[in-house]
Amino acid sequence: MNHPYDCLVIGAGMAGAVTARELAQRGNKRVLLLERRTHVGGNAYDCLDERGVLIHQYGPHIFHTSDKRVYDYLSRYTAWRDYQHKVVANIPVEGGGRTLLPVPFNLVSLEVAFGVKQAATLEKKLIDAYGAERKVTILELRASPDRSIAALAEYVYEHVFVRYTMKQWGQKPEEIDPNTTARVPVFLSRDCRYFQDPWQGMPQEGYTALFERMLDCPGITVELGVDALSRLRLDGGKITLDGEAFTGTVIYTGAVDELFGFAYGRLPYRTLDFRFESYDRQFFQTHGTVNYTMDEDYTRITEFKHLTGQRLREPVTTIMKEYSRAYTGQPGEIPYYAIINEANNALYRRYAALAATYPSLKLLGRLAEYKYYNMDAIAARALALCDDLLK
Ligand SMILES: Cc1cc2nc3c(=O)[nH]c(=O)nc-3n(C[C@H](O)[C@H](O)[C@H](O)COP(=O)(O)OP(=O)(O)OC[C@H]3O[C@@H](n4cnc5c(N)ncnc54)[C@H](O)[C@@H]3O)c2cc1C
Repeated sequence: MNHPYDCLVIGAGMAGAVTARELAQRGNKRVLLLERRTHVGGNAYDCLDERGVLIHQYGPHIFHTSDKRVYDYLSRYTAWRDYQHKVVANIPVEGGGRTLLPVPFNLVSLEVAFGVKQAATLEKKLIDAYGAERKVTILELRASPDRSIAALAEYVYEHVFVRYTMKQWGQKPEEIDPNTTARVPVFLSRDCRYFQDPWQGMPQEGYTALFERMLDCPGITVELGVDALSRLRLDGGKITLDGEAFTGTVIYTGAVDELFGFAYGRLPYRTLDFRFESYDRQFFQTHGTVNYTMDEDYTRITEFKHLTGQRLREPVTTIMKEYSRAYTGQPGEIPYYAIINEANNALYRRYAALAATYPSLKLLGRLAEYKYYNMDAIAARALALCDDLLK
């Protein structure tokens, strides 16, 4: 082989960065990492905006995991700021005004929604029926012979779930998968944290610094601003890079339909438009994320300073409003969420089967596998793939 590299990694997000590091350090491989964007970190990338506020360019990212291996692994590249994410839903109340309900809906939300007295009666019934600290689904609550419990399920469905889901997925209520609805939980607890994982936090110096440290390793060459597909050719089971046969392992973390020139058609996605707004005050809202579950056209507002703990001398803060819409594939649009259903999974399987005709090609990551993964899940998959490759 004429290439000076043993492995080619495409994409410098969590999938590509962990893989590149492991192959170079543990496997002693020479790794070429190509990234289309002008920065590393994939969608977890963060940077300072023009007011000096640390923002997440591609949507708010909070690290949380129950996987000790992943936590220990990422802790090599960052210290953590202790941060327990809390989310509230901003909903209108009868007679005017708004209130903030903790989500997932829990015993504190119950008090906000129904008042302390009525909530106490409902709480007793719920704990007698299902037990404390349990996550009970709307489906289970709906099936209760007690009408006040069944009515609670309807309240949560209407006020927290259905319109938010319609906005996020562009669906009519009748199109929403009943299995998804059935899984919406009510948490019989006063724990208002959004995640219950034992390890949660934010990288103390941000995600970009974490990724830069991970990729700072002998054996890794990173090229930014390079579309790998302009240099890579897949044809008849053979892979060429820059016009020459490449027989090393190729880890591809981009969109699989794009890799094969959309040969079987596009895999559908939802994309997001982010609107950033700066305010000359310390804080805009009381929580890191406020969901708008009823009438606004955005799904949620995130205020980064709550997440990052950043302190600035000036009273300034930046928020981000998220708007969800269909991904059309126009230049500049980013495919964010795979739309998982049987037809799309079947289309994905055709691409995966085509990819399997190239034995040295590995598909890894949210785009290549057409699935939603949290960062910790992707890091775990990357570590497992490297275990396998380096056996
Ligand atoms: C709005 C939003 C919020 C999220 N919040 C959280 C959260 O709070 N906590 C959490 O754990 N997870 C969160 N996630 C999930 C997280 O973003 C993913 O787990 C993570 O990005 C997956 O990493 P990846 O490497 O698979 O993909 P990506 O981060 O998308 O990285 C893929 C990289 O490949 C590059 N690429 C693609 N094609 C090519 C090509 N042809 N040539 C060169 N480079 C290419 C892309 O530019 C990109 O940088 C969130 C996701 C979204 C959409």
